[in-house]
Amino acid sequence: MATLFTRIINREIPANIVYENEKVLAFQDIHPQAPHHVLIIPKTEIATLNDLDASTAPLVGEMFLAAKEIARTLGVDQDGYRVVMNCNRDGGQTVFHIHLHLLAGRSMHWPPG
Ligand code: AMP
Repeated sequence: MATLFTRIINREIPANIVYENEKVLAFQDIHPQAPHHVLIIPKTEIATLNDLDASTAPLVGEMFLAAKEIARTLGVDQDGYRVVMNCNRDGGQTVFHIHLHLLAGRSMHWPPG
């Protein structure tokens, strides 16, 4: 069964796509938590960070490169932004296809909730 995010990759579910290359896709979060809230996903299904291994680890680098590029395109790279990945229940993960949240456009709090 394809994940929700694989269905977005396959264009079976609509999304506001902001970036795409051979390895990753990025689209606006449907419930934004900041003026800019983009999800960056690998085109390969990996359920959680716990499932990452040496063969798939380079994809995470691709995800961060995409985040950097999207932040620059949004014009928030100098003011700043936050990139976060949630893992499993206590991390707040609800979609089991790894993703980076790119949050920007307001001052972030620390510690996070
Ligand atoms: P997480 O809780 O870290 O697993 O993040 C999942 C994110 O996916 C949440 O921020 C949701 O708002 C977002 N989300 C769920 N369904 C969709 C969708 N169809 N399109 C865009 N974002 C979604």
